[in-house]
Amino acid sequence: MRISGLFGRLMCVFGRHQRSRGKARETPSGWQSVCIHCGVRMHRGLDRVWHVTRD
Ligand SMILES: [Zn+2]
Repeated sequence: MRISGLFGRLMCVFGRHQRSRGKARETPSGWQSVCIHCGVRMHRGLDRVWHVTRD
């Protein structure tokens, strides 16, 4: 039983995704990564806070 995984998913439900360090990459428009739990795309804003990327 993976309690940490369940907890991570719960955080996702509340919009508190956890970005992957391994999949982070720097692009011309800034840093991009994905949530390690649900795979949603994320980017780091000018405020240095990671936000979910919405197209
Ligand atoms: Zn997530």
